[in-house]
Amino acid sequence: MNSKAYYGKFGGQFVSESLMNTLEELDEAFEAAIRDPEFMEQYHYYLRQYVGRETPLYFAERLSEKYRTKIYLKREDLNHTGAHKINNVMGQILLAGRMGKTKVIAETGAGQHGVATATAAALFGMECTIYMGKEDMQRQRLNVMRMEMLGASVVSVESGSNTLKDATNEAIRAWARTAEDTFYIIGSAVGPYPYPKMVKEFQSVISREAKIQHRNAEGKNPDVVIACVGGGSNSIGMFADFIDETDVELIGVEAAGCGISSGKHASAMALGEPGVLHGMKSYLLQDTDGNIQLAHSISAGLDYPGVGPEHAYLRDSGRAKYVSITDTEAMDALLELSKLEGIIPAIESAHAIAYAMKKAEEMTETQSMVICLSGRGDKDVNTIADYLDGKGYLD
Ligand SMILES: *Cc1c(COP(=O)(O)O)cnc(C)c1O
Repeated sequence: MNSKAYYGKFGGQFVSESLMNTLEELDEAFEAAIRDPEFMEQYHYYLRQYVGRETPLYFAERLSEKYRTKIYLKREDLNHTGAHKINNVMGQILLAGRMGKTKVIAETGAGQHGVATATAAALFGMECTIYMGKEDMQRQRLNVMRMEMLGASVVSVESGSNTLKDATNEAIRAWARTAEDTFYIIGSAVGPYPYPKMVKEFQSVISREAKIQHRNAEGKNPDVVIACVGGGSNSIGMFADFIDETDVELIGVEAAGCGISSGKHASAMALGEPGVLHGMKSYLLQDTDGNIQLAHSISAGLDYPGVGPEHAYLRDSGRAKYVSITDTEAMDALLELSKLEGIIPAIESAHAIAYAMKKAEEMTETQSMVICLSGRGDKDVNTIADYLDGKGYLD
């Protein structure tokens, strides 16, 4: 057993024998790249010139006034393609090029990671194939169109529930056949080692910037840091530089969907059990026979039945706390942030906002919190309209 692949009892490399060498090669290439100043300079060049970093740490005045504590938003929604996902894609695709790969593949659920991958593949002239569940392709037609406009081929996956979990299985199978010339870009802090470590490395720019920005504004660390958790990439990036700062409370927010006792939710930390999926051991939603259960959330990006292994470890060690927010609470927070600050957040990010509003009740006016605003809500307007329609808001 490769002990560095583990976070406590979580993580590992649960893949077929034929992929073990590929993971080993990837690990070596990754470790060499992040120690190579030229590679890191190139990565930061594209983050600056193409993605638009650094992103602001915005002091939300009206929100702070209403909730009587200092609230800062880390504006990942302002990145090119509208979310944090491009930070990670940029790192992985540069690594792919360095390893001499000419093709990239990726899985996508809502299409956000697929769009980020297709974008970077266009930028670097790489052949790009995106695996997407048939059901998701119907639900997210606009993102399918974006990926195709960017030159990617989108493969419809018809197995299981025809969603992200199945698309990921298919991407792993395709990778096992083609790893010679193909790099698999995973979109969250999940998968077999070294993926959770890579994704954390390339997303940790979020907390590296935020820590300095908050110091400049307040002269100290924030008291609380909050981020939403799907697979766990924006949150691990938002936590990374604060993990060793034990005075900072770290809170991850999962989707409670229709409520965690309803059976229709995505709270792998609240109700999951340790199990193996997509090459890793972590907390997963499963039935009593160990079959993976379908997750539910109004936000497609949080609709994943598991969570990255480092989060499972941070939870068990007590360093981070995980809570959940329902669809309704998230939508209320989304509408409130839109009206109070003129920022329409992604529904995923609205889960973090909703919990921050609760958390503020136990904070003082001189304390402060940083919330990761992982993405913008433009992609969600149809979902928001349907929701408001159902609620009678638009009558
Ligand atoms: C994909 C996505 C998420 C969830 O993914 P993580 O890996 O948990 O960060 C959250 N917010 C937005 C805007 C997303 O696109």
